[in-house]
Amino acid sequence: MSEAAPLLEVEDIAKHYPVRKGLLRARRIGTVRAVDGVSFVLRRGETLALVGESGCGKSTTARLVMRLIEPSAGRIRFDGQDVTEARGGALRQLRRRMQIVFQDPYASLNPRLAVGDAIAEPMAVHGIGTGTERRARVQELLRLVGLQPFHAGRYPHEFSGGQRQRIGIARALSVRPELLVCDEPVSALDVSIQAQVVNLLRDLQVRFGLSYLLIAHDLAVVKHAADRIAVMYLGRIVETADKRALFAAPRHPYTRALLAAVPRPDPALRGRVRPIGGDPPSPLDPPPGCHFHTRCPHAEPVCAREDPPLRPMATNGGAGHLAACHLAERLPPVPPVAAEAISPTAARRLALFTGARAAPEG
Ligand code: SF4
Repeated sequence: MSEAAPLLEVEDIAKHYPVRKGLLRARRIGTVRAVDGVSFVLRRGETLALVGESGCGKSTTARLVMRLIEPSAGRIRFDGQDVTEARGGALRQLRRRMQIVFQDPYASLNPRLAVGDAIAEPMAVHGIGTGTERRARVQELLRLVGLQPFHAGRYPHEFSGGQRQRIGIARALSVRPELLVCDEPVSALDVSIQAQVVNLLRDLQVRFGLSYLLIAHDLAVVKHAADRIAVMYLGRIVETADKRALFAAPRHPYTRALLAAVPRPDPALRGRVRPIGGDPPSPLDPPPGCHFHTRCPHAEPVCAREDPPLRPMATNGGAGHLAACHLAERLPPVPPVAAEAISPTAARRLALFTGARAAPEG
């Protein structure tokens, strides 16, 4: 996987929002740093998951990649082309090659548009095919995502949540993209349906060689859907690694705290890592030094003074395991999160993701 060519290169991207006070003569009183210097590479055929608590900047990063919002700084390259500088026809072409699947499939579908028309709409926008060709493609896409051709004439309210997400995926695939940005694609769905949609995404990835930028907060989803993981905190990546390295030996205390939130029934494992406490600080006024020091159980005086850079870990994970923590190499090891180490409910949930493909829900 690591040998594949880069498809998406994000370099030091930032999104800052000015905060103003006053009505007539509003003055700037601060800056919200929603995304603050994020860099990563996504290779062809790979799934990279951006993970973190709500408000950490992962969805903003997804929208920056799609150029749905303009970056304050940084560069985004797609297949070598500069997305940040693209205009007019060049930007339209790039947008055809990158599609997004939204969290709420109902909100992302027009309730007054028949499903067939909703799936065909991106093809019409990009001038792809004749009307007959588009209708044939809609039938093909409906079958691909586990629905039936006759569903084309129905409306979004006639479908379940999982079926609506399948429709959203079919719509995204209609223009034959190379990259799918999946923004919390299953978090609004029931657990058993989540597994079906994740498995569908994996099948489609293998079949069409797709690359996924997966935005998620659910580690069960990430563990089975991602190749690499980047953990975000307060607008920055604080740790990134191959998923096996990250789950086996997380180096950043925030990653460890996220993993500790996975329920474990074994009393011997409980309490070895404390779940994260408190709320994230405001991105309007982040703490000095390491932004995590106000919640970190390992913080030392240096942490409040010096901002730790994202640096390679010599201790484990091989190439590509980076963490932004002064004490990363000195922290005690934690028990790896394995399917057998989590609660029966969570284990059943993982089994859904790892087991045989289930039939589409009715
Ligand atoms: Fe915790 Fe210090 Fe590491 Fe930040 S640098 S994560 S405060 S130990």
